[in-house]
Amino acid sequence: MKTVRASLNLRKINKGEKKGIVRAKMTAEITLHELASFCTRLGFFYPSGRIYGGLSGFYDYGPLGAELRRGVLNDWWWYFVERRDDIIGIHGSIITHPRTWVASGHVDSFIDFIVTCPKCGFEYRADHLLEDRGIQIPELTLETLSKLIKKHNVKCPKCGGTLSDPSPFNLMFITYVGPKKVDASIAYLRPETAQLIFTNFRNIIMTIGVKLPFGIAQYGKAFRNEISPRGFLFRLREFEQMEIEFFVNPKKLDDCPYYNKVKSMEINLLSAEMQDKGEKEGKIVTIEDAVDNGLIGCKWHAYWIAESLQWLKNIGVDYNRLRVREHIKTELAHYAVQTFDVEFLFPQAGWKEIEGISNRSDYDLKRHEEFSREEMHVYDDGEKIIPYVIEPSFGLERVILAVLISSYREIKGRRVLSLHPKVAPIKVGVFPLVSKSEFLEKAREVYLSLKEEFRTIYEAKDSIGRRYAKADERGVPICVTIDGQTLEDDTVTIRFRDTREQIRVSISALKEEINKVFKNWHNYTSS
Ligand code: ATP
Repeated sequence: MKTVRASLNLRKINKGEKKGIVRAKMTAEITLHELASFCTRLGFFYPSGRIYGGLSGFYDYGPLGAELRRGVLNDWWWYFVERRDDIIGIHGSIITHPRTWVASGHVDSFIDFIVTCPKCGFEYRADHLLEDRGIQIPELTLETLSKLIKKHNVKCPKCGGTLSDPSPFNLMFITYVGPKKVDASIAYLRPETAQLIFTNFRNIIMTIGVKLPFGIAQYGKAFRNEISPRGFLFRLREFEQMEIEFFVNPKKLDDCPYYNKVKSMEINLLSAEMQDKGEKEGKIVTIEDAVDNGLIGCKWHAYWIAESLQWLKNIGVDYNRLRVREHIKTELAHYAVQTFDVEFLFPQAGWKEIEGISNRSDYDLKRHEEFSREEMHVYDDGEKIIPYVIEPSFGLERVILAVLISSYREIKGRRVLSLHPKVAPIKVGVFPLVSKSEFLEKAREVYLSLKEEFRTIYEAKDSIGRRYAKADERGVPICVTIDGQTLEDDTVTIRFRDTREQIRVSISALKEEINKVFKNWHNYTSS
């Protein structure tokens, strides 16, 4: 969370960043606008309330999107919770005690600056207006924004009217708990999931025998009344976060037992120091170099950066389109020791945050201790301490966008979504080559058997070429075809979406073979 949210919104795309798009070796660059219509046409996402004209900042997941969402969430949970023994999961409520948000600082400072046009009534986020005109904002304060709008004579983009002075606008959605709509019953839809972890910290300590270092994870909905939602799924008013608070003894921020495993990993890093010198492009460095040169403050922080990047890579995000950018002084939240954004190179829009990884110190636990008067300490080596916390915080929809953009290809006029099998909404397509009854029967048999283990579709209509093309567009990694030989020797072909190569496999070994293929997917994809 950022209170008074300055950030990369302020930075326009520079020439180097545009060049980066070329380096990212995409076969076809799809714009967010094109991606939105592609995804709507295929049933991934629909603007919410579309039959009534839609509601800005809200999207519904269609059948393919719902499966893609599940795939990403499940893999995140598996990677960061299930397979580890030092992170446990919780599932907090969306509406919680309003004091939570007073203690966290959201009630006072979770603001953006809004300007309105008195002539046409349109409202804009002040920094976005300036950013869209390529105007650099040195500091996100009311005074600076006001000065810049006047200096550059920024008018209402809709009607050319003179804009009001900027004013602070709190992004939290308010609701009332109980039948009385009075101030005393005001509550908030949570603007982030993280605070629920802090407010449950004591419960976890008292009920589960955890010892430092350990983490608490949760994913779920968050709500922000963004002034100007934009960029398809990028800036929504209702979205999901996947967050971890990893608690560490402040004296042991370098005692990370997994550090050696990640230290040789190469990352594209744009440090605060480089930005202060006016540099716009990151440098490739190893995690170890970054730590040894003091660019990443501690080994636990470095480890969580590496783990985050590794997970994004595992689910099919193009590593060449990822960089780690440190917050510069003017955007660093007052409680944070150091913050990095993992940024993805979006088509047209340039580098934008998809994850924040912050060392939030002991700020949140101390604030909740102060406001609740409940003790938040733990014992480590016999010493009573309030731990520091490293927070890797992903936005689900932004990760999904990164996955989709990384996967989209146009090959000889065909659209192919090269989704990794881990996240592909449909894992297998089963097709009879021709629609004769013996082919159909055998294909149904294979389909029903595969369906027990994999999300499988069956299609018999259209030419086989069209069915393959349709499956490719939907990101189905493999198709199983029942042909003449199947009826003779009980074998089928497996066609790989990305290479379009085929192998022959006996039906009795089919499930095993598919599992093997999915496990070693890097051998079957050209991406
Ligand atoms: P931004 O500067 O883009 O508004 P933020 O820094 O306020 O984002 P955080 O509070 O750090 O975001 O939230 C963690 C993650 O939640 C972000 O990295 C992003 O992926 C996601 N997120 C935040 N706001 C939105 C939003 N309005 N729509 C979709 N995802 C969001």
